[in-house]
Amino acid sequence: MYDVIIVGGGPAGATLARLLGRSRKVLLIERRYIKENGEGDFKKCCGGLVAPDAQRLLAEFGLGIPGEVLDGPQLFAVRTIDQGNNLERYYQRHYVNVNREKFDRWLLSQVSACVEVEDGSMFKNYMDFGKYVQATYLKDGEEIVATAKLLVGADGASSRVRRRLYPNKNGQRRYIAIQEYFRLTYNQPYYGSIFDKEITDFYSWTIPKEGYLVVGSALDPYNEPLKKFEELKGKLEGKGFDLGESFGKNSAYLLRPRGSREILTGKGRVALIGEAAGWISPSSAEGLSYGFKSALNLSGAIEENIERAATLYRKKSKSLYLNIKWKGIKSFLMYNDYTRHMIMKSGVMSMGSIKEKLAETGII
Ligand SMILES: Cc1cc2nc3c(=O)[nH]c(=O)nc-3n(C[C@H](O)[C@H](O)[C@H](O)COP(=O)(O)OP(=O)(O)OC[C@H]3O[C@@H](n4cnc5c(N)ncnc54)[C@H](O)[C@@H]3O)c2cc1C
Repeated sequence: MYDVIIVGGGPAGATLARLLGRSRKVLLIERRYIKENGEGDFKKCCGGLVAPDAQRLLAEFGLGIPGEVLDGPQLFAVRTIDQGNNLERYYQRHYVNVNREKFDRWLLSQVSACVEVEDGSMFKNYMDFGKYVQATYLKDGEEIVATAKLLVGADGASSRVRRRLYPNKNGQRRYIAIQEYFRLTYNQPYYGSIFDKEITDFYSWTIPKEGYLVVGSALDPYNEPLKKFEELKGKLEGKGFDLGESFGKNSAYLLRPRGSREILTGKGRVALIGEAAGWISPSSAEGLSYGFKSALNLSGAIEENIERAATLYRKKSKSLYLNIKWKGIKSFLMYNDYTRHMIMKSGVMSMGSIKEKLAETGII
């Protein structure tokens, strides 16, 4: 009998395993092969930008990101393109650019050796028997059953645990995020964020990474996402982005909660953390800080009383619910053509001279 079985070894699951590892008997099930070092068989579709909220939580955990996890260049500006209003501005930003696979492996390497990590293992189903929960997973073609006091779904946007726990609540707003990788022939010293209603009502981005340019967009899965992605590339080329040869593409679902009612934290002997619960910023799709914070809240609830952990965790998440509400308001302002136009036109907080500097060096 385990105390906790965690499904998913991404940032949320690895953080919970690290926080509980020494005090509880924990099993972590992960479908990827992530224990050994080096590049994995599975590339997570992610921008790999660690935002200030996530940096702060890492600092509070007593962690600093090691150099080998970083992807160059480290950048300090975002080029914001508002296609509809035909406006462009540069703003200062403080992200850390990381290699997402290496980042996940590093987080997992911080987990105590007492935690049993079953990678290459696919969670299939569970049964809540009231006093305990039984999870079934597949490893090397063999079906394994494990029992625990609490099952935690940390299995991301398409969480199987969430779908099993809330079979009638499938109304979360979701997008299909597509990323394509191009060789960068010049140093691009900024991230790009593109607002264009003809492509998506969310946003698109460009991120330079280790000699490649990642072009990504969060698209409506029911409105010709591949066609919209091609349109986006055409528009970027029109803006001077040199895309050239493609070195591959990947995609992933992305949740975008319309409000706190779309956050599902769990019940009975099952709890959900990270994006499995719907914890992700509706304004920027930043998810790492929410993965860390929800894992921290759940670990506090487990330490207090594992029998009532799902209920206590919901109570401990009050500030995170408020944060989602606030990001909802921010999202309304950012994605409203009129307010965005007013903010960008005013030039408030923007970096005035950078455009001329980039033009002088031939970068734009
Ligand atoms: C294109 C894109 C770009 C993004 N860019 C950023 C960014 O730059 N910065 C940022 O902060 N956030 C970003 N996000 C959001 C961020 O990636 C997620 O919110 C974050 O990864 C959530 O962490 P998690 O641990 O909850 O889930 P995940 O990182 O999705 O981890 C879930 C884990 O569960 C495993 N799993 C899933 N199903 C099973 C199963 N059945 N059995 C066993 N294991 C399973 C998966 O293999 C995975 O390792 C981006 C998202 C997308 C889609």
